[in-house]
Amino acid sequence: MKICVVGTGYVGLVTGAGLAEFGMEVVCVDKDQRKISLLQRGIMPFYEPGLDDLVEKNCRDGRLRFSTDLPEGVRWAEVIFVAVGTPPNSDGSPDLSQVEGALREIARSMDGKKIVVLKSTVPVGTARWAEGVLREEAPAGATFEVVSNPEFLREGAAVEDFLRPDRVVIGARSQEAIEVMKEIYSALYLIETPFVITTPETAELIKYASNAFLATKISFINEMANLCEALGVDVHHVAKAMGLDGRIGRKFLHPGPGFGGSCFPKDTKALVHMAQRHGCPLEIVEAVVRVNERQRARMVDKIRRMVGGDLKGRTIGVLGLSFKPNTDDIREAPAIEIIKGLLREGAKVKAYDPAAMENAKRVLPQVTYCSGPYEVASGSDALVIVTEWNQFRRLDLERIKGLLKEPVFIDLRNIYEPDHMARLGFRYCGVGR
Ligand code: NAD
Repeated sequence: MKICVVGTGYVGLVTGAGLAEFGMEVVCVDKDQRKISLLQRGIMPFYEPGLDDLVEKNCRDGRLRFSTDLPEGVRWAEVIFVAVGTPPNSDGSPDLSQVEGALREIARSMDGKKIVVLKSTVPVGTARWAEGVLREEAPAGATFEVVSNPEFLREGAAVEDFLRPDRVVIGARSQEAIEVMKEIYSALYLIETPFVITTPETAELIKYASNAFLATKISFINEMANLCEALGVDVHHVAKAMGLDGRIGRKFLHPGPGFGGSCFPKDTKALVHMAQRHGCPLEIVEAVVRVNERQRARMVDKIRRMVGGDLKGRTIGVLGLSFKPNTDDIREAPAIEIIKGLLREGAKVKAYDPAAMENAKRVLPQVTYCSGPYEVASGSDALVIVTEWNQFRRLDLERIKGLLKEPVFIDLRNIYEPDHMARLGFRYCGVGR
């Protein structure tokens, strides 16, 4: 099966390489010439563990190639995956201009019969709308079907998630399209991956409902953490005991600075927007969004309190800039918002991240970027862990204490034990402990 993936970002590139690994012949197309020439030279345009090996192996085996020539890709392929970005508009609705642009270009190059698969996260009704857009542009004689196939991969574990997903969701109108999609993912049958076959509209909502539910767990435990602080209770024990209940589950019950990334913030807002437009407001999801925004502001309050009430002229060391470990993605990262808050109040910020500093430099040029955690700590009034990269879990704490101006340690991911930190002589605080 010949497949063209349009958009070579976090999702498109993993999808292209993953489908090649499943035995498909794949061309990954992007309009960003820089990305494509890096990929043609075997260099990944972003950091994602294991992706370089998967790309290299499938290119070597001749199943994966990269191009900026979308018309050629469309003519060559039987199935075209659309994996372009759907960033938020200012009113929370997703900006579908990349999707529309891609669809129009695809349509103009269509000859014969094609299946167009929407992998981007798009509102309910987009598959139907896409059919109209394709119909407007497609030359006479071209036939097509639009399928919804939302993606659930997590950045930082994207390769594993794509190759071994919890489920595959396929929203299609014809049996023929369903059979083609089953063939594409046939490698997953072997490992007994559940398939949910449904309408495109249902598939579109499944993606938003899933992300909104996960975001709800995070905002829920963050509110519990705030209450724990007020009551003198340890949220870790609360979350652990809750999570041991099989109906609740342990995952996504980690208190912290609020969720970030390119999905949860925009997808919760898009769902709220979609529901309001249909006269069916989602009060829980609206609260989830509000709680998350407040949580970030609370983190700045926490840091201010820990340095004595005034951030002006203070130097704050920040460890971790990406929205989570094992990625260089800083879209909606809590660290970026928190640093902006610190800078607004007159603090100086030193920072280190194992992968995201180049991206951060573009949005926060005022920050002093360091070569590692110890340089960050050196001369700072406080050290703040914002992203729980593994290398921050085993810091030489005596050395850190010696380097800091004041032994103030703010652990927004609760990776250290409060009692141990107190014994070492730190003024320590976490979230909800
Ligand atoms: P991204 O911004 O990293 O990548 C999008 C790519 O599409 C860019 O490289 C851009 O140059 C390219 N592009 C845009 N228009 C194009 C066109 N007309 N022709 C060719 N290329 C074009 O985005 P992403 O993070 O990979 O997300 C893509 C979609 O997948 C979004 O809808 C997102 O919500 C969804 N999603 C993302 C994740 C994630 O973890 N990042 C997970 C699941 C779903």
